[in-house]
Amino acid sequence: MIKERLSADAHEAVIGLEIHVQLSTRTKMFCGCELSFGDEPNTHTCPVCLGHPGTLPTINEQAVRYALMIAAALDCDVPSRNEFARKNYFYPDLPKGYQISQFDRPIAVGGRFEGVGITRAHLEEDAAKLSHVGESGRIHGSGASLVDFNRGGTPLVEIVTEPDIRSAAQAREWAQLLRETIRQLGVSDVNMEEGSLRVDGNISIRPGGSTRLGVKTELKNMNSFRFLERGIEAELARQRELLATGEEVVQETLHFHPEDGTLTPLRSKEYAHDYRYFPEPDLVPVAPTEEMLAEAREALPELPAARRERYVNEVGISEEAATRLAFQTAYAEYFERALAAADGTSAKGIANWVTGELVASLRDAGEEDPLGSKATPEALAALAGMVESKRISHGSGKQVLAKLVAEGGDPEAMVESEGLAQISDTGELEAIVDAAIEAEPEAAEQVRQGNAKAAGRIMGAVMKQTQGRADGGAVQKLIREHLGS
Ligand SMILES: [Zn+2]
Repeated sequence: MIKERLSADAHEAVIGLEIHVQLSTRTKMFCGCELSFGDEPNTHTCPVCLGHPGTLPTINEQAVRYALMIAAALDCDVPSRNEFARKNYFYPDLPKGYQISQFDRPIAVGGRFEGVGITRAHLEEDAAKLSHVGESGRIHGSGASLVDFNRGGTPLVEIVTEPDIRSAAQAREWAQLLRETIRQLGVSDVNMEEGSLRVDGNISIRPGGSTRLGVKTELKNMNSFRFLERGIEAELARQRELLATGEEVVQETLHFHPEDGTLTPLRSKEYAHDYRYFPEPDLVPVAPTEEMLAEAREALPELPAARRERYVNEVGISEEAATRLAFQTAYAEYFERALAAADGTSAKGIANWVTGELVASLRDAGEEDPLGSKATPEALAALAGMVESKRISHGSGKQVLAKLVAEGGDPEAMVESEGLAQISDTGELEAIVDAAIEAEPEAAEQVRQGNAKAAGRIMGAVMKQTQGRADGGAVQKLIREHLGS
């Protein structure tokens, strides 16, 4: 048993993702109804998106252009023509009895993004939104399902990855990088809570070193990045447990319940795989022109990956700091404004303050948008400059930042009015160090006998006396000189 469990634990995770991105076009995918979120239900509908017989769809050109931008950002190939197909199934959120999607001729294939292969990306229409009210029950329950067709027909791009992801944490990080990139394209709100970005996982495990794919399950309903990671984690644990007890993984679709972390299979009736796809006879194939492709490429803003490269190569900060800034656009903008305002302070110093203390201070204050913070980029640049030039200690810098986040203001004036200027005047420090040595005779004796660590007690006394304003390096030097260690 123990041996089997060990071997099951040695299995590696094989994860692919399917990401649905709601495009923020003005109108729906195949009709002229305007998109809406949160409007009165069923106020944005027409015979086309309600599936009335005899109505004909027309392709939203803006949606095609947005899909081409996504294709360019994910380094995909765009085949010379793509086709729409009918995906047939019955459900109350689908009045036509089929969804117009793309099947064997998607708009984009064969890309790569942040180390993960992109199998394909295709265009399709969203289904209507169902909400369930009252008590559920098959016949006698008082519950009901309500349908809001406002969402029905919203343009979607579905991105399908290769099974290149190896852990739940990697899936979360990668999906976050993807979201930030698509947000930068300006083609979607990418809001997971509101459903404009939806991520499903295809999950299997296999013995380490094997290249064969195991039986996979499909995991749905992870409507935040935290739930995405937790859901995949739970499913990997379930599959490992099955293998450890000699059972087999069955191919099925699972629903994640974030409240208690459990997984339940969807009933097969709710999720039949036999869609009987066939080409949509009411739409001509789409043949993107060279001009459209060039326009899509030119419409790309500086994407996070390119920005990271610029930060590393031209601005000269570490890859880690560059990634953290580049993929959080608001912080990137904040950093660049601070950098522009900096008067000789190093980019590395400013990046450290932004990615370290600022992120932490804003989190403590419950703020999300650094650009809306009372601590302006200009103030942060001045603060980082005072620490770098040793006018104030790092500890005092943190105090000033906390005050800036709470009240805003001018860090220079704060340092003046609160007397935070670092004491690096040797004469003044010498007197304080002398007093500290006298106050800590035991530690002083140990330092004299060669125990350098004991100097920490004396340093602590100096910092206490100066409320953290002493220049640590200068104090260390003085202690060494006085005690000859
Ligand atoms: Zn419509």
